[in-house]
Parts: sequence; C-alpha cells; structure tokens
Amino acid sequence: MSSSKDHGHTGPLKPQTELVTSGRDTVAQKGFINPPVVRGSTVLYPTADDLHAHRGEFQYGRHGTPTTKALQDALMALEGPNCAGVGLAPSGVAAITTALMAVLKSGDHLLVIDSAYRPTRNFCDGFLKRYGVETTYFDPLIGEKIEELFKQNTRAVIVEAPGSQSFEMPDIPAIAAVAHRKGALVIDDNTWATPLYHRSLDQGIDISIQAATKYIGGHSDIMFGTISANAKTWPQIAEAIRLLGVCAGPDDVFLALRGLRTLAVRLAHHQQSALEMARWFVDRPEVLRVIHPALESDPGYAIWKRDFTGATGLFSVVLKPAPKKAVDAMLDALTLFGMGYSWGGFESLVIPFDCSSYRTATKWNPGGPALRFHIGLENIGDLKNDLERGFAALKAAS
Ligand SMILES: *Cc1c(COP(=O)(O)O)cnc(C)c1O
Repeated sequence: MSSSKDHGHTGPLKPQTELVTSGRDTVAQKGFINPPVVRGSTVLYPTADDLHAHRGEFQYGRHGTPTTKALQDALMALEGPNCAGVGLAPSGVAAITTALMAVLKSGDHLLVIDSAYRPTRNFCDGFLKRYGVETTYFDPLIGEKIEELFKQNTRAVIVEAPGSQSFEMPDIPAIAAVAHRKGALVIDDNTWATPLYHRSLDQGIDISIQAATKYIGGHSDIMFGTISANAKTWPQIAEAIRLLGVCAGPDDVFLALRGLRTLAVRLAHHQQSALEMARWFVDRPEVLRVIHPALESDPGYAIWKRDFTGATGLFSVVLKPAPKKAVDAMLDALTLFGMGYSWGGFESLVIPFDCSSYRTATKWNPGGPALRFHIGLENIGDLKNDLERGFAALKAAS
C-alpha cells in the first residue's frame, strides 16, 4: 500500500492512523498531501499498442481516476483485510440499489430487516418486485430464528444496525451464520456506525454499504455512497458498477476523502455528546424512553457492546403523550436543532417520526410522540439550553 511505503511503516496501523495515512501517493501527487481533483473522461494512450492492450492504470473517467483511487484505497484500509474492493456511487441509495441489482435476479427471494431505511424498502417493493424479486420483511430482533423465513430461492438478507429511526440492534453474526449456511449473502447498511465503529466485513457481512452523505462526508455538503465487498462478492459488485455506469463526481469524491481524514475525531465527539445528551433526556420528566443502543438500559446494549467499538450521534427519544401542537411548539422553539432529513454533519438536527405506517413484520407502538436527534459538534451546554427552551414551549402548549 502506498501509505505504508510513504511513511516507512511495516506493521498494521490502528484505524485512526489509517484514516490519516492511507490513500496518499506522495510521489504521484508531486509532493502534495492530497490528490488533485481529476476531472476527466478521455484518457490518452501513448501508442496504438497501449491502446489495443488497454494498458495503463486508468482507461476511462467512468472507471476511475487518481482521485477515486485515493478514496478507494483509504476506505479499503479502514474496512480491513476482508475488504476486496470499494465501489463509489452518487448517493447512499444508489449504493444500496446497485448492490441489490448486482446480486439479485428474477425469481430470487430477499429478506429485509423491518427497520430498514425507508427508501430501501421502497426500492424492494416498487422496483425489485417489478423485476420478479420477492421481499419478506423480518423482525430486527429475530436472531437465528430467521432460518424459518428462508426459502429455496432466498438469495440475500439486508440488515441495518441499529435500525433507522427505531434503533433496534439485530444480532448480525447470528443472522449471517444462518444466511451462509443457506447459501445466501448478507448486505449491511452500516451508515450509523461507519467502518470505524463496526467492521461489518469482519462479522460475516458480505457487502457493507455507507451513505457517505452522512459521517464520511461529515459536513452536509455532498451526496455520496460506498459499497465495500468481500472477495466472494466484489467481482459481482464491480461488474454491476461497470454495466450500470455508476460513478461519482470528482468534487464529491474529493470531499468524501477530505471528510474521511477527520472521521475519528468527529465521531469521538458525536459519540460523547450524544451519550451525555441521551442520559440528560433519561432524567427529563417529559421523556418516556430514550432509544440509544449504547445506554446500559437499552435492550440492544449487549449486542452493541459485543459487536461495535463505538456509538455515533444519532438516537431517538419518545416523549410522554402530548398533543401534536405541543410537540410542534417544542420543535419551533428550538434554535440550534435544525429540522431536516439526513444527518451526520457537524450540526444538530431533530425530526419527528412515526414508523407505524410502513412497518409490516413488527408493530411500532412507542407510547408517545417520537423524535430522532442528531447531536452535532456544538457546545453541549448550549444544546441543553436550547432543549430547555423547547421543553418549556411543549409544556406551555400542552
Ligand atoms: C441517508 C441514509 C441512506 C441514503 O443515503 P443518501 O445519500 O441520502 O441516498 C441510506 N441508509 C441510511 C441508514 C441512511 O441514513
């Protein structure tokens, strides 16, 4: 790897160090630390012979540039030794749909966790169905009992840990063991933890997805997705990327790499502030329940502790029953917590949510209004003061 050569290291490096050193080719970059933002379609070949042989590291802009290679090398180092390749996609959803089209065919059956990111469900129900792929949703807490849901034609299982919005923690190694015994692949949407806090490919996952729009970008300024695959599945992923023409814009690739360099310090801060904030919510009289897998009281805590090395900034809070207008008044009173979709940037966010309209394998019945918080990099005292204002507005409108 170029990074090891550049820095004269021989032994394995810790992930925080890999984030800083990998994907850097000082000689090719003419001494500069970062790669150039290569904008390019055509790559010229010096001779007819080279052209006929497709000789050279880069052949065509869609298939890769020095900028994409730098990011892919860095992500591979972060994913660890079980990663055989990383594909880049223009969004997290594009990464998920590309991975699914890569491994599925008409007549296949797919198992999807009931807590999956909603657009993932929409793709399965709206697109894969049309192409003859049948989807069954399963309880996130099913564990090895998932075996009962397998059919002759079950080709893949999609997990997400923890689940979008509701944060159930599935037992990935147990699910993966059954899937592999049945000859199926396992795809993980690992956006919440990132490979820094959850090495999916070391835990039986075949294909690990990042909505790099979130923590890898880290600054709410790009749409980006990545597909990391093990040796068994990478050839299929690489082929699908080529056949579908999936590629990402050079500025976004550069910004994803730039975000990656500070991922470890940002996540450490998100983790610490979110845990402190989660504990603060637990003690609030307005709060019924806090759903955060790194809280000792959370039902997912044991699995989180076993399989993850950290937690990030996103969790949910269920309020005691309150009228909608009071919750809206609370949201309107917040000035530091913006209301909006997506997360993973430097800023704090909140959205109200209700999974009950689309869950099919499990019932979502939280017992009160549910809010999803992203804790950003602001001063935590300022954030608490903002929430105090919000709770005062909630009380005044109840
Ligand atoms: C945001 C998100 C995605 C989709 O990423 P986009 O870049 O917005 O397409 C996928 N999965 C999870 C868990 C997400 O939070």
